[in-house]
Amino acid sequence: MRNIVLVAGHSRKKYGCKAKDGTREFDFASSIISIVEGLVNNSKAVNVNLQTFEMSKLADKIEMTNKLNPYLAIELHFNSFKDRNVKGSEAFYWEEKDLSALLAHRYCDIFQKVSGVKTRRAKKDNEGQYKRLAWCRDIRNHSILVENEFLSYKHFNKELYFYYSISAMLRFLKSISW
Ligand SMILES: [Zn+2]
Repeated sequence: MRNIVLVAGHSRKKYGCKAKDGTREFDFASSIISIVEGLVNNSKAVNVNLQTFEMSKLADKIEMTNKLNPYLAIELHFNSFKDRNVKGSEAFYWEEKDLSALLAHRYCDIFQKVSGVKTRRAKKDNEGQYKRLAWCRDIRNHSILVENEFLSYKHFNKELYFYYSISAMLRFLKSISW
């Protein structure tokens, strides 16, 4: 059985972005993760050992993840951006030739299938562009950073994306069950 680490981006205090109704990115991602964890633990179909934890500093999160030595580490975010014409989920990876790239593409494919919304595809992480993305760079094994839809937009449908995010993550984890 493969070990997978799944954590929410940011922390309780530095919670990332905020939805129009006040929902915080960290809280939203955390609630999705706790439901996914419960479902995976009670599922025979999704055969992975899912580990999740909460830490405020990214460096501590990375150190803890490397200690747990998972097959794959996933950090879950919800996006925000000024330009409201930009839409869709995306996933980041560090090395083009690493399995992480393939898994990031797979996650996007699954999210697109589940939501029916075109994703922004998987992309090579760019440190110059996003300083926070040490997640992809410093995890020793495979790692991806997921940015599901744009939480900050007025048209963001919270309930729908709550469901899509759980559903996509379960299907993704099932696809790497061993
Ligand atoms: Zn974020």
